[in-house]
Amino acid sequence: MLAGRAWVGGRLQTVEVGVGEDGTITALGKDLTGDRRHDVGQSVILPSGLDVHAHFREPTAGERVESVDTGTLQAAYGGIGAVVDMPNTDPPITTVERLEEKRRRAQGRLAVDLLLYAALTVPERVPALARVAAGFKLYLSPTTGIDPPPRPERIRPLLSAASVTQLPVAVHAEDPRRFRPTAGGGDDGTVAWNAARPPEAEEAAVDGLLMDAPPGLRLHVAHVTLPAVADRLRRAGQSFEASPQHLLLSAGPGADARWKVNPPLRPPPAASELWQRFRSGRVPIVASDHAPHSAEEKARPFAAAPSGMPGVETMLPLLLARVRESSLDLPVLVAAAADRPARLLGLPQGRLVPGHRANLLVVDFRAVTQLRAARLHAPCGWTAFDRWPAIFPAEHYLDGRAIVSGGEYVGAHDGRVVRPAFAPGAARPATVEGSEASRAGPGDDAPPGASARR
Ligand SMILES: [Zn+2]
Repeated sequence: MLAGRAWVGGRLQTVEVGVGEDGTITALGKDLTGDRRHDVGQSVILPSGLDVHAHFREPTAGERVESVDTGTLQAAYGGIGAVVDMPNTDPPITTVERLEEKRRRAQGRLAVDLLLYAALTVPERVPALARVAAGFKLYLSPTTGIDPPPRPERIRPLLSAASVTQLPVAVHAEDPRRFRPTAGGGDDGTVAWNAARPPEAEEAAVDGLLMDAPPGLRLHVAHVTLPAVADRLRRAGQSFEASPQHLLLSAGPGADARWKVNPPLRPPPAASELWQRFRSGRVPIVASDHAPHSAEEKARPFAAAPSGMPGVETMLPLLLARVRESSLDLPVLVAAAADRPARLLGLPQGRLVPGHRANLLVVDFRAVTQLRAARLHAPCGWTAFDRWPAIFPAEHYLDGRAIVSGGEYVGAHDGRVVRPAFAPGAARPATVEGSEASRAGPGDDAPPGASARR
């Protein structure tokens, strides 16, 4: 068992966390009987995070800078116990055969758990894909391999087909009809990129989605960058995420192509207002949109460089440092990085309650370090957050077994490909109670810790 200050019932309490043979939390309390008591001292025990948005690039024809091995290893170091891997690979994950092949190839190579999304491209394929996938991704603007995006009148049938499956549908919401390619044709960086893929493109896509989404759909809008869009989705009771790059960075002169992401970084007012919403609990989920490219690719002229940046290893450490600085409350972070993602994905984790998996972090808030690319585990070898303060978990447990200890990976690459408990064909463990709650999305106004008291 682990003993120490733990995030339980919406507050920090000194407790013992009992872990059963099956890797679940068996009890929380004082003076638990059991073997091997591990006192974490001044550190804090938290549920490990879930990242609902990453690109580990498998399969990719030709050279690639990432894999499920290296991607999940970065997640383990960064305190993320489960990651959603997106389907816009080369070739894209648009068929059951490709999805099953991807699942087979992942076995025995995962440092943490992985969830595989399928691309939502053809309504007729949805029922079969839903028996293997953990969720769907819909791209409303052109992306790798999945080109062109659906015409507007094709979106509603796609969402209707997906809603029958209960699985989450993550949407890249930018309307390409609002893009102004000439505005981004030059090499003047993030300011021009924001003009080329302007706020109107994101607003129009989300407005359309809210009109097209059937009532039962488990909709989740990826990487919202605009405060107004966050407010709109929250009013509509829909799930959405913001990424650390859109919360912490902004468009400005002088930024090179490493800061090129889709949707673009926005100018400072939007970014700081989005951060204010996040820290006040009005952004339900934080997700990395980990999308690494090699330093060489990112050294190209801005217009020619690919979009995306690494982030699965640094998301939680950057935000834990914000907690230490008192610019972010711990319950807001735990809700956005662990509890709500677990509910969206139907996984029995994300909180310290009996019956949940013992996926735990031990965090020493005094151990602030400076992010340096050379100390990270990303093959791409760079980070947009160089020299930012960060707090990495000292210990990370998956099903009660240490995968990181003393800040080093000690696991056996025995993470699993997992699916929502409510997925078609999935065995539903009695411990998952989040499926109904997640439908309410962020629309409920309960304080972030309230759900833990149920
Ligand atoms: Zn993405």
